[in-house]
Amino acid sequence: MVKVHDGIERLDVEAVNAKENRTLYQARVKIFPKRVTGTFRSFKWAMMAFTLAVYYITPWLRWDRGPYAPDQAVLLDLAHRRFYFFSIEIWPQEFYYVAGLLILAGIGLFLVTSTVGRAWCGYSCPQTVWVDLFLVVERWLEGDRNARIKLDKGPWSADKIRKRVIKHIIWILIAISTGGAWIFYFADAPTLFKNFFTLNSPFVAYATVAVLTATTYIFAGFAREQICTYACPWPRIQGAMIDEHSLVVSYDVKRGEPRTLRKKDREQLGDKAGDCVDCNACVAVCPQGIDIRDGEQLECITCALCIDACDAVMDKVGKPRGLISYATFANRATSKKGVQAETTWKSFIRPRTYVYIAGFSAICLALLVTLLMRDRLDISVLHDRNPQFVKLSDGSIRNGYTVKILNMIPQPRTFILSIKGLEGATMKIAGSDNVAAAFIEVKVEPDKLRSLKVYVTTNRKNLPKTSNVLHITVEDTLSDEIAKYEAIFEGPSK
Ligand code: SF4
Ligand code: SF4
Repeated sequence: MVKVHDGIERLDVEAVNAKENRTLYQARVKIFPKRVTGTFRSFKWAMMAFTLAVYYITPWLRWDRGPYAPDQAVLLDLAHRRFYFFSIEIWPQEFYYVAGLLILAGIGLFLVTSTVGRAWCGYSCPQTVWVDLFLVVERWLEGDRNARIKLDKGPWSADKIRKRVIKHIIWILIAISTGGAWIFYFADAPTLFKNFFTLNSPFVAYATVAVLTATTYIFAGFAREQICTYACPWPRIQGAMIDEHSLVVSYDVKRGEPRTLRKKDREQLGDKAGDCVDCNACVAVCPQGIDIRDGEQLECITCALCIDACDAVMDKVGKPRGLISYATFANRATSKKGVQAETTWKSFIRPRTYVYIAGFSAICLALLVTLLMRDRLDISVLHDRNPQFVKLSDGSIRNGYTVKILNMIPQPRTFILSIKGLEGATMKIAGSDNVAAAFIEVKVEPDKLRSLKVYVTTNRKNLPKTSNVLHITVEDTLSDEIAKYEAIFEGPSK
């Protein structure tokens, strides 16, 4: 039923979680969010375009790393256990960078939530973004809220079937492209694209696309707000992060109540009448189907679309905007009737946010410093266990080692492997025809580990002790990069 009040139509809509309707189990009530325009809606469109563009385009960006490494800017090469992010290459032993990034994301989320509430949920969570995208298709084909409700309730006519079939085909195509884009992060995108459609890709690629297609189609097309309310743990976790100084979307009860639906009620109440004209515009646009006037709710993703809707209504009835706005609980509690609660950026300035900012900055700095200073060359040495040493026919003592040299750049390199610390010691690579010397030239392929069996020999009289320190060094012939290992050279007891 539609009633008229001050030129505003009251939308006949009930919030899905209206308190009096709550039961232990409640079947999903379909939500048909109404189109809305305004500042927050525009921001949401921009965020949707940005996040979708980042997701779909990123695997196709190229980055020249030379002939020995993949040219995909962002590549999670699980087969070769390497992560490529533009000029940064992460090896498995450097996984702490990934852990650091996850911790950063966690602290960043804490910071954002404690200051501006569930901004992540409202603007950039994949569930929110894809539901928005699916709604664009739905509105384009079936019209705005009232038309969609009418179509949904109406009989299965040819027009309804046509619209529904086209809608689901487009949804499935979006879902396939979503799953398809995901796999391109894990292999060379152009090659995988070609192989995928010629059925030459591995089974896991098809399985991944199938699972992601199904989840995108179901989550964004059907489950929608149910995922946020029941499946996602974030609404529960956020309770511990939001406090009375966090900015959240809320309704100004002091200003809005008593709400008045009809003009004559308003006239009767006079100055006591609240500014809310009970038009339900805020409920009709809500993608979660809730009524923000009922207070803070777990279902609210703080998308702020109700702010846009209510501001438009306030403009029409000649009242100041901000009946629904971003405000802190502290401001709402202390604000006076008729005085707009301050949307203050002071919520950023408090001990809790200092701690988050300090932690975030410290981890950023630590990651940056270690990234700039990290070695691209490594050496490890394993002494033969049995025998620990061999006495040769000329009386000299020989120790065997397994030397591993890791070249962590996508270029072939030539190194000088040398030994120091033992007088007269020479080395020889097993199976090679190199002359025994104190240093040997070793070539290592790009991004590869080379393992060598090395024998070090010295005269027994050069061994002052049973266990002697031997420095094994590997040095790049072109750069100054050097890696060292302190090994032990064993000899017979005196
Ligand atoms: S109540 Fe408002 S902010 Fe919360 S989900 Fe609904 S429209 Fe978005
Ligand atoms: S809060 Fe605003 S949009 Fe919601 S019913 Fe009242 S006047 Fe209408």
